[in-house]
Amino acid sequence: MTSFEGFGLNEAIVRAIADENYAIPTPIQQQTIPIAMSRRDVIGIAQTGTGKTAAFALPILHQLVSGGRPPERKGCRTLVLCPTRELSGQVLDSFRAYGRHLRIRTALAIGGVSMAGQVRALLNGVDVLVATPGRLMDLVKSNALHLGGVEFLVIDEADRMLDMGFIVDVRKIVSKLPVERQTLLFSATMPGAVVE
Ligand code: AMP
Repeated sequence: MTSFEGFGLNEAIVRAIADENYAIPTPIQQQTIPIAMSRRDVIGIAQTGTGKTAAFALPILHQLVSGGRPPERKGCRTLVLCPTRELSGQVLDSFRAYGRHLRIRTALAIGGVSMAGQVRALLNGVDVLVATPGRLMDLVKSNALHLGGVEFLVIDEADRMLDMGFIVDVRKIVSKLPVERQTLLFSATMPGAVVE
């Protein structure tokens, strides 16, 4: 696919891509977007800077606006797990940029800041929640977030997640999600534990 028009993405998303001045999909986008658009799971090997954020954000945004119910109270339709607060903020900014012509609700759940604002942001439910694993678990434990309605799961930089010792938290989180969902996993490397 040599242009963004050919993926069958919602017109408002194609417009947002044009606003970003992206002309040609990067290799990871060319390989991943058609698979994700067909609702299959994706494992992508990609470093930061390759355009991997759009590779998962664009097909998810498309599916969010193509159907399904609005998010439940205290629920999220999409959960994106990131290893760091910094990356979480960047991923959220990308979802907002690519979704700027859509009506989607987004929220960030990262440590190091008060939980009260995040609890409030989740009250009516969100379409996209970007989170680090520790804070996400805290929100679930305090009953501010329910994971039973997650339709799309992204695990970003899975190898860094492993290096930083988040693997136990990630396993616990995944065990709380509906079995029927689409999972997209991205990693710069594929050590055995990530493959598993
Ligand atoms: P990422 O790997 O997702 O962090 O993206 C790295 C940078 O590439 C970001 O600044 C994106 O805005 C930019 N980018 C992503 N996809 C494209 C594209 N198809 N054409 C041009 N720039 C892009």
